[in-house]
Amino acid sequence: MSTSPCGLLMVVSSPSGAGKTTLCRRLLTEHPELTFSVSYTTRPARPGERDGIDYHFVSDDTFTQMVEAGAFAEWNWVHGRRYGTGLLTVRQALAAGQRILLDIDYQGAARILEAFADSARLVFILPPSLAVLEARLRGRQTDSEDVITTRLHKARHELSQYPMYHYLVLNRELEAGYRELRAIYQAERAHAEGRSAPADDEALAHDCLKSERATLAQRLLQGDEA
Ligand code: ADP
Ligand code: 5GP
Repeated sequence: MSTSPCGLLMVVSSPSGAGKTTLCRRLLTEHPELTFSVSYTTRPARPGERDGIDYHFVSDDTFTQMVEAGAFAEWNWVHGRRYGTGLLTVRQALAAGQRILLDIDYQGAARILEAFADSARLVFILPPSLAVLEARLRGRQTDSEDVITTRLHKARHELSQYPMYHYLVLNRELEAGYRELRAIYQAERAHAEGRSAPADDEALAHDCLKSERATLAQRLLQGDEA
């Protein structure tokens, strides 16, 4: 698949409840040049979610037809529902040298990395501990007890996928987590545009490289604080 050297696909993943949506929404608000890739899903909309903005909410039949038509850059089952990234969205963004943000799970991230290796930059959001992750999921009050239990069971497996990612953001205190995500975006955006980013962004982005943060991710996986 051909890609423009200027296109940037910022792929952001995390275990459910780590704060990915909160951080991504703020980045998108503060950076109007960054476009959100609106995924397709067969799950029902949550209160407050808008069709075509948060997701394209589609029926099982429609999703199946789209899979058969090759309309997805990647798609997967996540928590018992199907989710997919539109191939046209990604192709058009790259052809136009745009920057897009994809909020997708680790399986989708792997597929995007494989298909668009030159343009994809993968960021994983870490919670400070599994206990805090659970507290955030409960505090959000959007999911049933069953859904929360399923998501917690999956969290450890999702965390174990961290070696695939380029960057690890620690979302302990919201401002610090956001600064890290923004610095990574600023650094990668600058690289895609063939220029240097401000030195403080480059330095903070460097601190978030997986190679710098592996110990922290390992601690989380062992059930300790990051
Ligand atoms: P995700 O998209 O990863 O599932 P959300 O962004 O929905 O997670 O965040 C889960 C909950 O945790 C929300 O209620 C959010 O307000 C809260 N939250 C996110 N980041 C932080 C943080 N750094 N400190 C405290 N609460 C947070
Ligand atoms: P939620 O239902 O909480 O919005 O999302 C559940 C999970 O699905 C999250 O991990 C989110 O990143 C992932 N997801 C959302 N859209 C896509 C997509 O298009 N493809 C894949 N593979 N995962 C997605």
